[in-house]
Amino acid sequence: MSPARFLSPGIIGLATAVLLLAAPVPATADVVPTTLNEVAMSARTLQATLERDKDRGDRDAKKSPTVAEVYAQFQDARSNRLRALGYFGDVKGREHVLPVPPFSYHLTAGFGAFGAMWGSSHTGLDFAAPLGTQVVAVADGTITDVLLDPSYGLLTVLTLEDGTEVWYAHQGTSSVMPGQTVEIGHLVGTVGSSGNSSGPHLHLEVRPAGGASIDPNLWLIDRGLTP
Ligand SMILES: [Zn+2]
Repeated sequence: MSPARFLSPGIIGLATAVLLLAAPVPATADVVPTTLNEVAMSARTLQATLERDKDRGDRDAKKSPTVAEVYAQFQDARSNRLRALGYFGDVKGREHVLPVPPFSYHLTAGFGAFGAMWGSSHTGLDFAAPLGTQVVAVADGTITDVLLDPSYGLLTVLTLEDGTEVWYAHQGTSSVMPGQTVEIGHLVGTVGSSGNSSGPHLHLEVRPAGGASIDPNLWLIDRGLTP
């Protein structure tokens, strides 16, 4: 008498299901367990496979953070960057910062001033600061130019999301490349005295839609900042 006779249809069905689940073993007739011992072994194999897959799933879940976790990390990095520059309180809602860290500078020439340094009136706002002082993105945007100009020296153009161009002139070093997207507070370069400059300072220009420059002081004040 074959041992299979002792197996109820239910157990045979279970054994088949076990083998189907434990793919890639093909569920052909010749591998259907014919003893209770073989059914038990197949069940243990299936259990081990399930546990291994569960462990692997847990590990994969740890390796791949959710969208919410990535966003939280991004927000934390942004807040930490702004705090490191000297901004306090709830910095999450802040959309603009000064082009150099607060308390790192003093204003020298304002927009529209006349002087021997300029062909006509002054087209920007001058932040005098020590050589090497960080120059940062005033808002999220894209770097659209980094170039050397006889007057502006090492110049970076940051184009904001509304099309406004922010020009950073007389830089000592540059940390960005054209085409690069930057977030608020991201390092653009450092204060220098390149080009037509009488000492270390950042010459900031604001050009809506890339047109004529407007007063950066008023533009910053409109955005809740006091240069
Ligand atoms: Zn200037």
